[in-house]
Amino acid sequence: MPTLDTIPFRVDLPQLFQTLHARPGSANARELEHLAAEAEVVARPRATYKIGFLDSSGDDYVVVDGLKFTSRVLRVNLQDTHRVFAYVATSGVELEAWANEGDDDLLRRFWGEAINRMAVGAAAQALLKHLAETYGVATLSTMNPGSLADWPLAQQRVLFALLGDTEATIGVTLTPSLLMVPTKTVSGIAFPTEESFASCQLCPREACPNRRAPYDAGLKERKYGIQTVPGADH
Ligand code: SF4
Repeated sequence: MPTLDTIPFRVDLPQLFQTLHARPGSANARELEHLAAEAEVVARPRATYKIGFLDSSGDDYVVVDGLKFTSRVLRVNLQDTHRVFAYVATSGVELEAWANEGDDDLLRRFWGEAINRMAVGAAAQALLKHLAETYGVATLSTMNPGSLADWPLAQQRVLFALLGDTEATIGVTLTPSLLMVPTKTVSGIAFPTEESFASCQLCPREACPNRRAPYDAGLKERKYGIQTVPGADH
């Protein structure tokens, strides 16, 4: 599997201060600067991916390299492509261990987690940039198992079966309870699209700090033919 294991990581300090409500110049900000410098030395974010080809599809599934992914939204999103990129991106085992240092210092751990989250974001961004440039894809969208009820978390098993030995390539494992380790890891399928897609468009959850696109109440039925059940989660 192609692997990116020299992804640069620089902490965006203004962003970190904003996220953690630290006033520049304050004692907290100085401590965060110190932690960020430490993290930049320790961190080794990585990503790996596998190119898969669609064998067949039905109403609510696609078969990629012989493995069946069950999701109506994924099936519709892939209707104009024959090739997908299954991927995993992680902040890395080194930064995970660093973020968990100082068990008793809750504030230190909280700050470490925030920096760790930035590292996985850097890994995911580097991966998508690499895919777009290497394979000449103008617009890439992604879907992640568990982000929608239509594509539940259990489908991680199929995704990891497609990816192969991610522990050997980038140190990521999937536990029997479907937790990815290191915990700051993202996985999914990236695919070329004419119009960009984000699961958040189909997710009505309010006040989500990670929202990447506005909720579109009619999209589920309009584009995917899925009836919205009142009171049901996304
Ligand atoms: S809005 Fe939040 S919970 Fe919903 S899909 Fe987006 S990131 Fe996930």
